[in-house]
Amino acid sequence: MTDVHIRPAVQTLPAYVPGARSTGEEVAKLSSNELPYPPQESVLAALTAAAGGVNRYPEMTGDALVEAIAQRHAVAPEQVVVGNGSVALIQHVLDTICDEGDDVVLPWRSFEAYPICIAVAGARAVKVPLTADGRHDVAAMIAAVTSRTRALLACTPNNPSGPALTADELTALVEGVPERVLVIVDEAYLDFVTDPAVGDALTLLADHPNLLVSRTFSKAHALAGMRVGYLVGEPGIVSAIRSVATPFGVNLPAQAAAIAALEPAALAETARRAAVVATERDRVLAALRAQGWQVPDAQGNFFWLAVGEQTDALAAHFRAAGILARPFSGEGVRVSIGTPAENDRVLAATAAWPAR
Ligand code: PMP
Repeated sequence: MTDVHIRPAVQTLPAYVPGARSTGEEVAKLSSNELPYPPQESVLAALTAAAGGVNRYPEMTGDALVEAIAQRHAVAPEQVVVGNGSVALIQHVLDTICDEGDDVVLPWRSFEAYPICIAVAGARAVKVPLTADGRHDVAAMIAAVTSRTRALLACTPNNPSGPALTADELTALVEGVPERVLVIVDEAYLDFVTDPAVGDALTLLADHPNLLVSRTFSKAHALAGMRVGYLVGEPGIVSAIRSVATPFGVNLPAQAAAIAALEPAALAETARRAAVVATERDRVLAALRAQGWQVPDAQGNFFWLAVGEQTDALAAHFRAAGILARPFSGEGVRVSIGTPAENDRVLAATAAWPAR
């Protein structure tokens, strides 16, 4: 017990349940949407070399990394801010723009950190249900915006349901809200998208100063353990976020690793690996549907089995088959795409599940 005041918003925060960590050799760890491959050699070499210098602070705002990211996306360095994973940055954004009691509109179900970040910022989450096929309900999201709305979050591809926003949907979303509302588009899984109709919010930045795009090195770049994410947006907003962000928020080896990951050869290898994962994903999806499962479109490195009340039982069934998946109790199980052998194990387990 403590007499110290804990903010009511913090006392009532929903828990962020991370995907289970691997416990043994034989377990397929498919619970956190990571890449099943190790970091690239050049990236490992850069981070190992940097580790020898950690008696010194890194660059406070990660200037060299910011420069490399700006080059990659053909934007100005003033438009980029890096942070300790994109979750930390989303928190910083909301801390930057939300006053107590403001509304933030978001799709639901989506990434479970969003409602936590919103509550920590003192704001109110306005959850707009996904459509029956797991897509953002763009019209309903726009309709949910009021004079109290400070920001609108979009997640494309959406974690955990799988579909991504088309270019038309993205444009409709950004153009459908007043310019005082910040539209934050989380593109953590965009590297795995293969549907040509899917849009990239970065292409809309030039015309929409109220747009902010979130990216991460945790997924396709195979650097989840390094914790590096970034935002790209209008310089005034980015500068305000920088003033809120934790000083030295990206550690020295993480900065070095991320810079190495942006070298042309590393980027090419990342794209190649992402394509391999996407091909595996499409193979798994086709096989699941042939087994009789209803699976929404999957554009990230994961798929979603919306089994409702059977969620915990299905997760236990996977666990007994040596597969760590991510259950959302009462709603469904999200399974990451792993190596071909791991995916085969998943398909054997889904084939053996009677109730679909
Ligand atoms: N956005 C989404 C949609 C995610 O699913 C995740 C990771 N589960 C993140 C962001 C977190 O990214 P990071 O590791 O950069 O904090």
